[in-house]
Amino acid sequence: MTKPRGFVRKTKQRGAILRVLRNTDTHPTADWIYQEVRKEMPNVSLGTIYRNLKTLVEMGEVQELSYGSGHTRYDAKSHTHYHFVCDECGRIEDLDIPCMQDLNREVGKEVQGHVREHRLEFYGVCGECIAEQNRKTGSVS
Ligand code: ZN
Ligand code: MN
Repeated sequence: MTKPRGFVRKTKQRGAILRVLRNTDTHPTADWIYQEVRKEMPNVSLGTIYRNLKTLVEMGEVQELSYGSGHTRYDAKSHTHYHFVCDECGRIEDLDIPCMQDLNREVGKEVQGHVREHRLEFYGVCGECIAEQNRKTGSVS
């Protein structure tokens, strides 16, 4: 038995999105993913990208990251890890520090329930932006 065509197309699109997302560590927006997937599938629409991203998030394959203002960013690393967000350039970096799994247990105790996951975000100015600022102030004096 063959799968219906619509199904094949859908999984192909989903696969392309996952591939694009797994090949970057920049935590891109849906727009950026759209531009990349289009190189492979010229007829794909932005709406399709959004729909598939939503499904991938529901499947637990992709993490959705929103930071108030600005566009939602996507992350194919679905395991618990922490991020650094630059206030200046908006870059989001993965942090290579151990996860505090004990926190889940402690908070679980506190709420007398169960913690599924936790998120931790650090905000500040990245090294590149600090270097850039130093270059600018250095050239003035
Ligand atoms: Zn920066
Ligand atoms: Mn990440």
